[in-house]
Amino acid sequence: MRGSTTLLFDEHSSDFTEYLSYLPEHQRLLCEDTPRRYLLTNNYDAMCLDTDFGKVIIVSEVLRYFLYFMNLATVNFGDVPQDVRQFALIIAVRSLLLTEALDFDLDPRGVVPAKIDARINEMISWQMKFIIGHEYAHHILHHDGGMNLRVSRRQRFSDEDIGEFVGYSRQHAQEFEADLHSINAIEDDTVRFPLLVGGASFLLALYVFEALASEIDPEFAEINTHPPTATRVEKLFEAFPDEPVFFGEENKGVFDYFDSMIDFLISSYRDDPNLFTFYGSVYLGQWRGPVLIDRKDF
Ligand SMILES: [Zn+2]
Repeated sequence: MRGSTTLLFDEHSSDFTEYLSYLPEHQRLLCEDTPRRYLLTNNYDAMCLDTDFGKVIIVSEVLRYFLYFMNLATVNFGDVPQDVRQFALIIAVRSLLLTEALDFDLDPRGVVPAKIDARINEMISWQMKFIIGHEYAHHILHHDGGMNLRVSRRQRFSDEDIGEFVGYSRQHAQEFEADLHSINAIEDDTVRFPLLVGGASFLLALYVFEALASEIDPEFAEINTHPPTATRVEKLFEAFPDEPVFFGEENKGVFDYFDSMIDFLISSYRDDPNLFTFYGSVYLGQWRGPVLIDRKDF
């Protein structure tokens, strides 16, 4: 019975348990007992919440969908047609804008070849582990002193009131520290490298999203709680100068590449704002496959 279990069963909980297993023992012990899980929420944050029952780490499942389509759009998997990449990019940003219906399990938007699908999911798991490690790092590094508590009320792009929650307001320096610690805490090189690639590619995806979000709503930049994402990427590259992450030596050209995605999104938005703001589903161009009819096929 699928329906009865999905709300309680966290199908990606291995992202948490695997990350915890990489940590040195004393750090793992600090984090192990903190409740954690993915949540399908009308919000795309990963956060460490201070609740009446203690600290809780939650990660929005929306981030996984965002990364799925962002990876399809930006990573070189060989032969992904250009229109598929462009629609993937649009679906990715729409999912963080909360205008894309979150029914991907029922209506996957297209047929992605199994080989590419597997590689994308492998990448997502490293990207999510970096994000999870970042949240644990705040905890391990004691960034959560009571002084930093704030009540946050964020609606962002959604009309629905998500209510208030108590989150942490941190200094930018602590965010950089958490990014680095997520990787540096791990001693095993075979884990550090994919975590670094996961972290850098996640931040670059976010960089693309934020540029479009600021075009749609200039107030977006003001409510963003983290330091400029481009700076976070640069700090990661600086911290690991010997790792040729994406673009060979010194990662030259990486911002040109992602800026070209941003140019495409912004000009698409100016041509047709509705494409980004209507609520519903966008499909993967020539990879769409058979058209599924609501209530008939799913
Ligand atoms: Zn943070």
